[in-house]
Amino acid sequence: ATMPPLLAAIAVAGRRGTLVKDATVLEALAEVDAVALDKTGTVTVGRPRVLDVRPVGGWGADEVLAMAAAAEVGSEHVLGRAVREHARHLEIPGADGTTALPGTGVRARVGRHDVAVGRPELLDGPAPAEVEDLRAEGHTAVVVVVDGALAGVLALADELRPGAGAALADLTATLGRAPELLTGDADGPARRVGAELGVDRVHAGLLPADKVEHVRRLQRYGRVLAAGDGLNDAPLLASADVGLVVGDGAGGLGVRAADGVLTRDPVASLAPLVRLARRARRISR
Ligand code: ADP
Ligand code: MG
Repeated sequence: ATMPPLLAAIAVAGRRGTLVKDATVLEALAEVDAVALDKTGTVTVGRPRVLDVRPVGGWGADEVLAMAAAAEVGSEHVLGRAVREHARHLEIPGADGTTALPGTGVRARVGRHDVAVGRPELLDGPAPAEVEDLRAEGHTAVVVVVDGALAGVLALADELRPGAGAALADLTATLGRAPELLTGDADGPARRVGAELGVDRVHAGLLPADKVEHVRRLQRYGRVLAAGDGLNDAPLLASADVGLVVGDGAGGLGVRAADGVLTRDPVASLAPLVRLARRARRISR
């Protein structure tokens, strides 16, 4: 007996590291018209590093870093991991009442202080000069806010996945439409990554709900495939026609919202996956 084409394709995809939930996912993949990709942890490797700590308002660099790391204890976000990693050599004070602010950062009580770590929008008003400078350099700026006032800015950067540019060119050729990059990060770093990848459509500063909005807009062109890290991309993955979670990083929480898991080479897997799905559907008809 021969295996039905869609099942055979599920097996092939699996061998290549993409696990799809069922055959309907392959049918939907065969019809994908547009792709939305999350930046951090999806097109980038998702192992950002802290490059610089710039204290503000009289705090010491180590003090700022230690408070930030304290607030990030328990954070599953790759930026949280990067902050803890960078503070490894320091004594980290205890924190309590830690709350994750999805797509924004974390907040916790550290000793006598209320500490928030995350996107500069945590502060009211225009972004401070330190933030603007780092963004212009293409870095991700994370602010450390202590008792409501800026105490420092952390500069972080992540590397692109090797071969991501070529993989996205392949995807553009396969779909006849260039993928779009969606990110909660700021314009500067988002555009730097877009330029390195050859992607012009870059949408920055998005909250998880804005990413959903964006998928809805893209759905005017047809079916949308979205890939994200699942940490705060669960709504994005759920709203797309096909949502694939990157399963090689810290993620995993978004898996239930996803139609499949990209366990290896998440970006390079996409175009071959669409072609595989198209072939399987052709044969099965
Ligand atoms: P992306 O869309 O690129 O995956 P996220 O939506 O995960 O980015 O996060 C958007 C922004 O929120 C980050 O660029 C960062 O400024 C901030 N952020 C989110 N979580 C954290 C955290 N745990 N620590 C510091 N900053 C965070
Ligand atoms: Mg993300």
